[in-house]
Amino acid sequence: MNANNEILTQLTGNENKTAMVHNFGAGPSILPKEVFEEASRGIINFNNSGLSILEIGHRTKTFQAVIDEAIHTLKDLMHLDAEHEVLFMHGGASTQFFQVPMNLLDEKASAAYTDTGIWGTKAIKEAKLFGNVDVVCSSKDANYSYLPKDFKADPSAAYLHLTTNNTVYGTQWQDLSLFYDQNVPLVADMSSDILSREIDFNKFDLIYAGAQKNIGAAGVNVVIVNKRCLGKVSRKLPTMLDYRNHIEAGSLLNTPPVFAIYVCMLTLRWLKNMGGVSVAEKRNNEKSDLFYQTLDSIPAIRGTVAKEDRSKMNAVFVAENAEVEKEFLALCEKEGMIGIKGHRTTGGFRVSMYNALPYESVKALTDLMLYFANHKY
Ligand SMILES: *Cc1c(COP(=O)(O)O)cnc(C)c1O
Repeated sequence: MNANNEILTQLTGNENKTAMVHNFGAGPSILPKEVFEEASRGIINFNNSGLSILEIGHRTKTFQAVIDEAIHTLKDLMHLDAEHEVLFMHGGASTQFFQVPMNLLDEKASAAYTDTGIWGTKAIKEAKLFGNVDVVCSSKDANYSYLPKDFKADPSAAYLHLTTNNTVYGTQWQDLSLFYDQNVPLVADMSSDILSREIDFNKFDLIYAGAQKNIGAAGVNVVIVNKRCLGKVSRKLPTMLDYRNHIEAGSLLNTPPVFAIYVCMLTLRWLKNMGGVSVAEKRNNEKSDLFYQTLDSIPAIRGTVAKEDRSKMNAVFVAENAEVEKEFLALCEKEGMIGIKGHRTTGGFRVSMYNALPYESVKALTDLMLYFANHKY
């Protein structure tokens, strides 16, 4: 019985007969069982207030305590210094593609961008609306199957933008010192690997992430910004798009996505209770090690990216031919392996192993892969 079934049974008193599933979806994605349970209770009766979290005013003490805990826990988990502010904002990571250059890139100035996948490409497109963009490296010619490491950002660049984990292609920068050594302010899209491994987050001027992969529910994104980098562009900014206004208002400039922030708070609390980012990293390493070892042992399927750049969050692979692909997909569907079909632009398969995915799910999938290899191919 999976997590959702257990909760249904608790809530309804009826044994739920839905099939066992393992969720490898890329986003929105699996969250911890404890979070689903607590959030279910919160919808019905939040902290014994007699009210649902869905009907609580965002300017009440009750919600203030929720967002305070979310911000405080995130700062704690990331070991952020006093210069770095945490914001909860609307519009997903995709809004940050334009909000970042709007706030940090003057019309005559230049920003350096790395082109390592679909999300980076979209960020580049938006940045061009606000200033000059210098694409310092790209692996587009090889269908983004590796990370191009031989580049140098111009020291005068307003910032250097990177995507730490390329969710669609399954690559992840394993050694970020390459970026630290550039001596240019860093801006990172960490949507799909934030809080999955220990990083010196203070080295970044700005980090953004849609919540729906490793932080919580869809509908909110997290921005971590060093306030010293703000207020330097000459253009006028709309109120809602100026980070400084959100800092001043404590992420309550207008009605925030209350429920999504609540789910983030619960997930962050879960991560903290589990032992924090270092424990998550250890578990993520165990999961991805098991997965890739299994993948490499099966001739009928193969990984698509350079081994040293493999993502520990999203493993992308293909079958040796269309028939193997179809059969493996059908077997996975039959056995309750959800969300492993590859992105529409890459085809093949993608297995996402975010923080909340239990080791047991990877074990179940790799056992099925071995079964497939031994009995069918
Ligand atoms: C999912 C994802 C996005 C898009 O996030 P939205 O919240 O849907 O806008 C951007 N960047 C990366 C790296 C992602 O994984």
